[in-house]
Amino acid sequence: VIELGTPTRSVITTCAYCGVGCSFKAELNGDRLVRMTPWKHGKANRGHSCVKGRFAYGYASHGDRILSPMIRDSIHDPWREVSWEEAMAFTARRLTAIAETRGQKALGVITSSRCTNEETYLVQKLARAVFRNNNTDTCARVCHSPTGYGLGQTFGTSAGTQDFDSVAQADVVVVIGANPTDGHPVFASRLKKRLRQGAKLIVIDPRRIDLVRQPHIEAAHHLPLRPGTNVAVVSAMAHVIVTEGLMDEAFIRARCDWDEFQDYAAFISDPRHAPEATEMLTGVPAAELRAAARLYATGGNGAIYYGLGVTEHSQGSTTVMGIANLAMLTGNVGRAGTGVNPLRGQNNVQGSCDMGSFPHELPGYRHVKSPEVRAIYEALWGVEIDPEPGLRIPNMLDAAVEGTFKALYVQGEDILQSDPDTKHVSAGLAAMDCVIVHDLFLNETANYAHVFLPGSTFLEKDGTFTNAERRINRVREVMKPRNGYADWEVTQLLANALGAGWTYTHPSQIMDEIAATTPSFAGVSYELLEEKGSVQWPCNAAHPEGTPLMHVDGFVRGKGRFIVTEYVPTDERTGPRFPLLLTTGRILSQYNVGAQTRRTANSVWHSEDLLEIHPHDAELRGIKEGDWVKLASRSGETSLRATLTDRVAPGVVYTTFHHPGTQANVITTDYSDWATNCPEYKVTAVQVSASNGP
Ligand code: SF4
Repeated sequence: VIELGTPTRSVITTCAYCGVGCSFKAELNGDRLVRMTPWKHGKANRGHSCVKGRFAYGYASHGDRILSPMIRDSIHDPWREVSWEEAMAFTARRLTAIAETRGQKALGVITSSRCTNEETYLVQKLARAVFRNNNTDTCARVCHSPTGYGLGQTFGTSAGTQDFDSVAQADVVVVIGANPTDGHPVFASRLKKRLRQGAKLIVIDPRRIDLVRQPHIEAAHHLPLRPGTNVAVVSAMAHVIVTEGLMDEAFIRARCDWDEFQDYAAFISDPRHAPEATEMLTGVPAAELRAAARLYATGGNGAIYYGLGVTEHSQGSTTVMGIANLAMLTGNVGRAGTGVNPLRGQNNVQGSCDMGSFPHELPGYRHVKSPEVRAIYEALWGVEIDPEPGLRIPNMLDAAVEGTFKALYVQGEDILQSDPDTKHVSAGLAAMDCVIVHDLFLNETANYAHVFLPGSTFLEKDGTFTNAERRINRVREVMKPRNGYADWEVTQLLANALGAGWTYTHPSQIMDEIAATTPSFAGVSYELLEEKGSVQWPCNAAHPEGTPLMHVDGFVRGKGRFIVTEYVPTDERTGPRFPLLLTTGRILSQYNVGAQTRRTANSVWHSEDLLEIHPHDAELRGIKEGDWVKLASRSGETSLRATLTDRVAPGVVYTTFHHPGTQANVITTDYSDWATNCPEYKVTAVQVSASNGP
């Protein structure tokens, strides 16, 4: 039973699942949440929603939630419930002792893409102004960090170029490494509407995702590439466009660095990039690839949407830059219906990156090495900012194992379950003297924690999320925090226990500080958000109403930069012991590792993760529909049930990762993107064999 009485009041807020950022009316009877109704005035969703935002909020009142702070001297001791005062005093004593004996650089933080902009801003401020180092990283490290690097290098800023409305003017849509109908359902509805009106679709994905064939929709081209060959496919498309003279030379001359373009054109024209030369490698028929490239270049407005199937590779950043090259080659940037659009997985992954979560960037993607930028914060915060970039998550763990990194504050993220190489993560955590987990539930990381600080849900706090189209949406308090404090207040308690003297009384004051220090947010205020409903950054004196389309008259960096994108094969190889390639994805009703959705009504829709295997590969192994199978890689093994389908090609298997028992990260490798360390979750050589069960 979902509905619990007649609503007596309502609060407009924003869904806390995916990066679409749907607006909802939370309807209450007294203090009891009765239902979540999609809000018709929400600019991201216009009255639509999916089953996650609509039904999956029961985790907020789930009995597993921890509502009191807990501490313990050792991770082998039982937890002790304590007051907030005692928890903060205990934590401050430990952190101070570590800083005095090991130095300030032994401390660090991890921000959450599930928390608000204001909360994220405070956590990175804690690292820079209180811990006095730049050891701050974000869970975006394991998903869209290559977007940050790739779009930053080519266009000058790490953000999707378009608003969602733009898809209504696309003539050709390329979906690469994304499955919008499951991952971003409300955006997918808009996309499908445009496709039904006649826009052409190109899908580049190892798996035949739902979009490829739907009622009244049929992709013009599905390029079922071999996992790990994105760069080769994107380069082959660029080769066709350049060598067949399908470029928009006027755009390139006017908007891009011409010298760099000439270097790139010489590189990409080489016959080794031709579809015919790469067909064996990629598994994509050359004729299909040529036809797809011609369609994208000549079919009118061309829009590219991509997801983690692009970024979570050893060449994730290279593929992002290759996609940007395609858009610049064809002049498909800066107009409605075009662009390069990362479909962000988490509700606030855009915001967590915008707010300075990365160890080398202050808010607004400004490098910590810049004296001018540091001076802004030094004047406001009254401290000297370290000019050296801090540690990324994997480097923090390495340093912990080596004994030089000793304390970590993790807000809203389960790194033990989400990050690659589980053994290394647990070894790093076990080597620390103070792990502080700030979360809703006792997650896997909390097994290694000395302090557990209860977190608040999106229903219990005020603030903002920024969605995949750079839209800053308000999150409003629907009910009082069950744990006593919203997450931003907990971070402030911790900072003040360490002597910071912060005095924020409302998240709007934090946003005012963000606006005062970050040029792309200079015009943002809660007053403006109340007036407009939402606004897309950049929002400042030049763009007081916000910016639906970026790079209209020029790229943020000035001239667009073509970057040579050499294909380098992943070190993960198939062979006689591990002959199949595993790739992963999501299902509509569940979300990431399922910590929230599995504790809601949505659990009835997806009770286990299944392994998709082609009937030919299954027959070779004596596997039938529903059989238990062992999935083994060089890293580890797990068991799950098989389902036989030709959605995947022979040689490729696929699973979701919503249930902890699946332990997908025990299987995956520790290879990562060369530029950002984003793990290569989408390519793992595996063997599948019949088994008797888990
Ligand atoms: Fe929430 Fe995304 Fe579903 Fe919208 S599409 S309701 S933001 S999960």
